[in-house]
Amino acid sequence: MPRFHGLLFAATLFCAIPLGAQPPASSPTEIDALYPDLEALYRDLHRNPELAFQEIQTAAKLAPRLASLGYEVTTGVGGTGIVALLKNGAGPTAMLRTELDALPVAEKTGAPFASRATAKNAAGLTVPVMHACGHDLHMAAWIGTAKWMADHRQRWRGTLMLVAQPAEETGGGATAMLNDGLFQRFPKPDFTLGLHDDDTLPAGTIGFHPGFFRAAAISPTITVYGRGGHGAMPHNTIDPVVIAARIVLSLQTIVSRETNPMDPVVVTIGSIHGGTQGNIIPDEVKLELSVRSFNEDVRKRVLGSLERIARAEAMAAGAPREPLIQFAGIPVNAVYNDAALTGRVAAALQAVMGQQRVVEMPAKMTSEDFSEYGRAGVPSVLLHVGAVDPAKLAEARRTGIAVPAPHSPEWLPQLEPTLKAAVQAETTALVNLLGAK
Ligand SMILES: [Zn+2]
Ligand SMILES: [Zn+2]
Repeated sequence: MPRFHGLLFAATLFCAIPLGAQPPASSPTEIDALYPDLEALYRDLHRNPELAFQEIQTAAKLAPRLASLGYEVTTGVGGTGIVALLKNGAGPTAMLRTELDALPVAEKTGAPFASRATAKNAAGLTVPVMHACGHDLHMAAWIGTAKWMADHRQRWRGTLMLVAQPAEETGGGATAMLNDGLFQRFPKPDFTLGLHDDDTLPAGTIGFHPGFFRAAAISPTITVYGRGGHGAMPHNTIDPVVIAARIVLSLQTIVSRETNPMDPVVVTIGSIHGGTQGNIIPDEVKLELSVRSFNEDVRKRVLGSLERIARAEAMAAGAPREPLIQFAGIPVNAVYNDAALTGRVAAALQAVMGQQRVVEMPAKMTSEDFSEYGRAGVPSVLLHVGAVDPAKLAEARRTGIAVPAPHSPEWLPQLEPTLKAAVQAETTALVNLLGAK
């Protein structure tokens, strides 16, 4: 496991910040000076995306930059993950996390730096690759914050822990780093901070949400069994297409009839496959689902309902076997933003960036494995940064047609205001958390 040791600085001598005082935060002029280099890095990362757990070139671009800034850098944590520490005297430890990975999406942004990359996915299939979730922007902001924090050590004290995590998109990256000793081999932080780009806020606006913010997600599959035969003789068969169709509709009542309207739940059937051609009744049909919720008890109840409805529909049709219910992929837990930490960070950001640009936002049913750092016992907050041209957002509100969102082949943040706001928010939050005990 390679380890880079940066230069030692005597900055610890400058830790004369009086208790309780709010040290000055990053200024727009300082961030403007960082920007050209960060934009170049962003374009390079965007053009060269890598899939989950394959982020070798991506990590190799980031690690040496941190080492040259004086961070102690460890690579290969949890696969391709990076941990970079900057020790700046006695004080708390704050962690800032970025993601490294991209998605199997064919880019349609038309950007001059658009990706044309392909890669083999975990199943061995060649797929297109794109930074369709903005993790390239998160990495560029993370590097900007790393530089600003290294250049302004007199404005904070304690330990800054920068973490670049593999495989957020598939789930499993945060867990891989934690299982590789993230909080044992390195200091267990007092706070963890993350920031994600967002399609619902104007570029440069920061969104915060105390409490449950991003949903837990699991991916059940249901295989429905029938008895196939000739399409002309349905009376000699038990048609799993009809059973599956009934299941699709009956499952809608889990949310509409069985769930308390105050508990957010999503049951989406995103894939349904069965049969080969119109005149053959198949033996089986497979459904793939996404089930999302915040509350563990609600999730258990939804899964119980799903199983009951699938079995009952199969029984009603006289199916020869009960449906098989399995789970695909890695389940992701809900992100919980520590209320006190969220309030503290939001107030610090509002003081610097203004109340108009730092706003409370609704929770989302999308998921994020940032949840795992909080579950490991560290107060955590995931902020969002608006990434959409305000004029396009206003147009979308007027027409009711949503702008492209993360995971869309057309997702492209409005770079300059978004990236600058991300660096300003990260540095301001870190100086607040590391400035006063
Ligand atoms: Zn994503
Ligand atoms: Zn993402």
